[in-house]
Amino acid sequence: MVRIPFSPLFSPMCRLRSALFLLLFLAISAQLFAARPLFSRGRSAYSIVLSPEASVSEQTAARELQQYLQEMSGATLPISHNLTTVGPCVYVGYNAKVEALTHAPQPAVDDETFTYRTIGQHLCIYGGQERGTMYGVFAFLEQQLGVHWYTPTVTQVPRRRTYFLPALNHTESPALKIRQLYYHEAMENPAWCAHNRVNSIHSSVQNEYGGMFSYGGIHTFEILISPHEFFATHPEFFSLYDGRRIADGQLCLSNPEVLRTMIARLRTYINEHPRHWVYSVSQNDNQKPCQCANCRALEQRYGGHSGLMVWFVNQVAAAVEQTHPGTLVSTFAYQYTRHAPTGIRPRHNVVIRLCDIECCLAHPIASDAQNAAFLKDLHDWSRIAPRLYVWDYVVNFSNYLLPFPNFSVLASNLRTFRDNRCIGVMEEGQYQSGESEFSELRAWLLAQLMWNPEQDTDRLVRRFITHYYGAAAPYIQRYFSACQKLVSPEVHFQCRIYADDAIYTDRFRQRAAQLLEQARRAVVSDTLLTRRVDNVRLQMLYLNYARSGNLQDPPAELLRILRRSRTHIAEPLSAEKFLEGKR
Ligand SMILES: [Zn+2]
Ligand SMILES: [Zn+2]
Repeated sequence: MVRIPFSPLFSPMCRLRSALFLLLFLAISAQLFAARPLFSRGRSAYSIVLSPEASVSEQTAARELQQYLQEMSGATLPISHNLTTVGPCVYVGYNAKVEALTHAPQPAVDDETFTYRTIGQHLCIYGGQERGTMYGVFAFLEQQLGVHWYTPTVTQVPRRRTYFLPALNHTESPALKIRQLYYHEAMENPAWCAHNRVNSIHSSVQNEYGGMFSYGGIHTFEILISPHEFFATHPEFFSLYDGRRIADGQLCLSNPEVLRTMIARLRTYINEHPRHWVYSVSQNDNQKPCQCANCRALEQRYGGHSGLMVWFVNQVAAAVEQTHPGTLVSTFAYQYTRHAPTGIRPRHNVVIRLCDIECCLAHPIASDAQNAAFLKDLHDWSRIAPRLYVWDYVVNFSNYLLPFPNFSVLASNLRTFRDNRCIGVMEEGQYQSGESEFSELRAWLLAQLMWNPEQDTDRLVRRFITHYYGAAAPYIQRYFSACQKLVSPEVHFQCRIYADDAIYTDRFRQRAAQLLEQARRAVVSDTLLTRRVDNVRLQMLYLNYARSGNLQDPPAELLRILRRSRTHIAEPLSAEKFLEGKR
């Protein structure tokens, strides 16, 4: 028998104390939080209040807050630029009133940390002026009111009759400062990016959402010192490879004239393209580095190819800093330069862009033996690089349409990058056309996880599928799960797999066929949902076709969907090219 000892917790004295505490707590709560609805039955007593000095993105956020609340409830909250507005207020942005209410220090302009917080009957939403406040407004709509920006054309805005503001005090900061999504869904849609807190893109964007970080170039050796311009007159600028100078390799980085030319060319480029957050001085997309004696000597001195690269780029960055203070210069740690150097480190204004193209995407970088070499490189760079940035590959570039079961590693890898002090990440996905293998889901999920990789992937996926596929959602969810189960501890794959891969078992293909047929039937009367389900069906239609051995004669259903979606088959194969000559 277990004898329960007398507990002081239940003593009469203790009960009295608890009751007093409860009363005190209720009194304070009542003081802090007057139970007033933000809106009820199409009306609201609240005003949205901005400082007259509010930034462009804060004004956008206030306007959109008004629009979404209106759409959700029918209530229109007036927008005021007068901080002495009477009555309950939603303050958007940090201002004198918010300072008086919260006693919080003023956030830096570029700080993307945001807070939404109730004080008495007021709601304060604030962060850095550039994008922080705006992210706070969108996060409030998303987390408290259930607005989700799934795709550029699909936003979920729940209808609500009444919403009482609970006591709120919520602050978030991004896991990674720079978050770029190289996805078709993101590239032409700065509004969708802003709603999902994606803040970087290739080309420079100044917009009503506070702009975005744009990355100045990739593989720029051949752009800044072009072989078309220089090879005929200066072959010594280029790689000595297998005993001769070649135009289609890299640069001879130990040549002082190459350094001088690069500095001059980069300065001109910066003057002509002033808005990038970083300028790339990076190897071409080939593995033919210079083999001359001087280059080799420097490589030996600094621990390999990356040592010579850092030695060269450091000098470019130092020179550019003289004429363009504050400018950052980046280079790749990619393929032959992926290992970190020794005896030299990137200077303070150099960004190292580490590429994980060789990694196994079936298992997390942090725990897969196949990824141990990359993980070591990541650790090594993290120790010496003041600004480390990862180029992460997340789809099957050889077959965009095939089921690609790497969803379970996405969050884990982002946590690994964050934990290794990375300042940013670019997720390279299907950037050429939309509607490939779960690309709408992937783009939204990655945007969510780049901001906060502690989120539960399964939960996010379920939320997306439930809304996006409507009546077909239960079948799509089961199909999605069946795809992810194709991974086992023994199965490894990189960012290229093919239709004849052993993971696509007969059992899986039969199960997938059943589920997708059920999904198709569930939405047969709905054109919009049928289109979305067809995009998923394309995965198995293409897989079975590619395994059939009869490549001349694709099934009519595959052709029909492709003619409509126009999605790429693979990185080097567009739908147009594939459809050429097909019946
Ligand atoms: Zn050389
Ligand atoms: Zn693996």
